[in-house]
Amino acid sequence: MTTARLHSIESFGAVDGPGIRTVFFLQGCPARCAYCHNPDTWNPNGGREVEVDEIVHKAKRGAPYYGEDGGVTFSGGEPLLHGDFLLDAIRELHKIGISVAIDTSGTYFDDYSDRVIEAADMVLLDVKHIDEQMFTELTGRGQGPLFDIIESINRHQKPIWIRQVIIPGINDTEEYVKSLNNFIQRIKSVKNVELLPYHTMAVDKYAKLGMTYRFADVKPMDHGRCEELAEELVQFKKQA
Ligand code: SF4
Repeated sequence: MTTARLHSIESFGAVDGPGIRTVFFLQGCPARCAYCHNPDTWNPNGGREVEVDEIVHKAKRGAPYYGEDGGVTFSGGEPLLHGDFLLDAIRELHKIGISVAIDTSGTYFDDYSDRVIEAADMVLLDVKHIDEQMFTELTGRGQGPLFDIIESINRHQKPIWIRQVIIPGINDTEEYVKSLNNFIQRIKSVKNVELLPYHTMAVDKYAKLGMTYRFADVKPMDHGRCEELAEELVQFKKQA
């Protein structure tokens, strides 16, 4: 029986994929995003060990609420760190008719990842930044895994939601959103694109953990401006 390390569970998740979902946040992340809200997920030895049976048991309890669209989402941290576990978990969840989404940061890809993406019902992909240098500055990682994931998604024609955090002074411009739109054109089966306003709710968590928050001077993103940019994105999509 494969195991993974589990950070936490959200029983009625409404934002990590369509419908109502049980969200399993797996422990461990290779990235160190400047604005990460969950630095407590970074340590691969943190959290607690979990077996597939427990995942299936917890997922079953939520099943009456999933409806046609909902199901299970594996998030993190970076869930693709646990490829062998995910393959077993997806297989067992599918046996009882539960749909599975993988919520990846695009910062990790290994020998299991293509099979995980093939087996999952959909993928949520956080695009950290489309510029390679900025991507590395923000995450401490290269863009290679992001392109491996996109290639895998295209090969398996997997439905995908794209999410992009909009950060003042980093990517809050029409030019960036236009470039993002061009970037997205290379991905098949995009079902949704969300621009999420950067917020500073994690600052206290860093203080409690005795960690330095790299974006301490960055103000929260104005929601109205973020919505304006999202409208631009729709226009660009229509033009494309
Ligand atoms: S990929 Fe996600 S969990 Fe990992 S550092 Fe970035 S924001 Fe945090």
